[in-house]
Amino acid sequence: MKILVGVKRVIDYEVKIRVKADESGVETSNVKMSMNPFDEIAVEEAIRLKEAGHATEIIAVSMGEAKAQETLRTALAMGADRAIHITSDAELQPLAVAKLFRALIEREEADLVLLGKQAIDDDNNQTPQMLAGLLSWPQGTFASRLELNDSTLAVTREVDGGLETLDLDLPAVVSVDLRLNEPRYPTLPNIMKAKKKPLEPLDPEELKVDIAPRLKTIKVTAPPKRKAGIKLETAAELVERLHNEARVI
Ligand code: AMP
Repeated sequence: MKILVGVKRVIDYEVKIRVKADESGVETSNVKMSMNPFDEIAVEEAIRLKEAGHATEIIAVSMGEAKAQETLRTALAMGADRAIHITSDAELQPLAVAKLFRALIEREEADLVLLGKQAIDDDNNQTPQMLAGLLSWPQGTFASRLELNDSTLAVTREVDGGLETLDLDLPAVVSVDLRLNEPRYPTLPNIMKAKKKPLEPLDPEELKVDIAPRLKTIKVTAPPKRKAGIKLETAAELVERLHNEARVI
């Protein structure tokens, strides 16, 4: 089984986001970037499927600027076998990303696609669903457990009311949630080995995919500052204020 894993380079989750002065987006220069945390979980799961003897090859894919190659090297150091970098300095919106994945999947004949449930920069949560739609493949989103049986993949998903388990026929698209696993840290020897693993750069034009944006960002603004809270002496005072001032009870 061939597994394709999406790894997006995003602003590190610990960085305090700053909005650009012209409100056109967020500041990314001189900001620490890392692999999208959900994508680390997807890479880890692919490696576990390979270690369990279910997968034969793991291909890590990143789309975007040149530095996405650093993110791919991290995926290779964790245990992916090879990497593909779709090079583009243009803004890649979920539909374009999904179409690029579809073209690659058709080229690679992958059996399973593991993606993060969302990229923490734009919080779209759209690419996996669009990709499954484009391919007409079964999909399991927000996976918190995966189990490969004879011919199906059991995906346990976190839904509002609890957990739901779906049996998917392969090939399929799965988006992973936080509780699926704890990703490993790459070891130093594996970081060295990763430098020699194959990393193929690819132009979106070679895949004949139209990546033109369909959505226009009008402006990006920081959320309003929260007002400071107040300390009350008694629960009775709290109830009184919630009733008479906030009028919520
Ligand atoms: P999104 O729909 O943008 O929230 O992204 C969901 C998932 O799609 C991410 O966690 C990645 O696995 C994958 N993905 C989105 N954009 C990219 C990209 N530029 N390169 C690689 N994978 C991506």
